[in-house]
Amino acid sequence: MDLGNQRESSNVEDRRGMGMVGGGLGVGGVVVALVAYFLGFDPGTALNVAEQVTAPHQMQQGKKGAPADENGQFAAKVLGSTEGVWGSIFQQSNAQYRAPTLVLYERQTGSACGRGQSAMGPFYCPNDEKLYLDLSFFRDMQARFHAPGDFARAYVIAHEVGHHVQKLTGAFRRLESAQGRVPEAEYNRISVRMELQADCYAGVWGHHAGTAIQLNSGDIAAALNAATAIGDDRLQQQSQGRVVPESFTHGSSEQRVRWFKRGLDSGRPQDCDTFSAAAL
Ligand SMILES: [Zn+2]
Repeated sequence: MDLGNQRESSNVEDRRGMGMVGGGLGVGGVVVALVAYFLGFDPGTALNVAEQVTAPHQMQQGKKGAPADENGQFAAKVLGSTEGVWGSIFQQSNAQYRAPTLVLYERQTGSACGRGQSAMGPFYCPNDEKLYLDLSFFRDMQARFHAPGDFARAYVIAHEVGHHVQKLTGAFRRLESAQGRVPEAEYNRISVRMELQADCYAGVWGHHAGTAIQLNSGDIAAALNAATAIGDDRLQQQSQGRVVPESFTHGSSEQRVRWFKRGLDSGRPQDCDTFSAAAL
């Protein structure tokens, strides 16, 4: 994979080194954080469900624009690539793609979905249309999940962008309207379909970006390995020593790989309809 010629996105907000403003533990914060957890937090989350969090106080503002350091550049280029791909896909259906903002932070930060913490893994907040990423997650992928590789890292960003696409298409509302109205097992089933669709959308991005960023079969194997490593079954097995399918919120390793590949092979978002699929 080679991002050398890729345009960097300027839709990056760099909050690294800023620390956290505000504080105070509130009951409301826990609720907000749980909602946010179900809406889109990713790998790593399963290990930290019981984490206590605080309500958002002040919204922080970071430095706008593509960062100069290597990791920041990488994230800005991947985001730039997703903007190009989704921009033209939306255009083909006479719609306009509204790009999300990528927030880079360290340890913890405020979001319109509650306080984000590194331990939760990368997440998307539909309320402010921002993707939150602590770059230390990429080190964890290598150390804890044994999922190294640039394209595996890019896949993580593309997955969160997939959630943003769901916000734009309205798919996100399925989850929001189910919140608090259906039994937890049913809610989790909807969440799994949301997550697998985001995986499929990440694949759609890979399909179209593939030529420009010179994807090779090794890159793809690394991303499939990452999808395998962060399946709920694998994470649960690691964290609690057993697998409870009803509590899955992201899908099994096999399902994540299958939907990612599906998008990667076809490049068509229409093929990512996990909500109508008879089998996942
Ligand atoms: Zn997700």
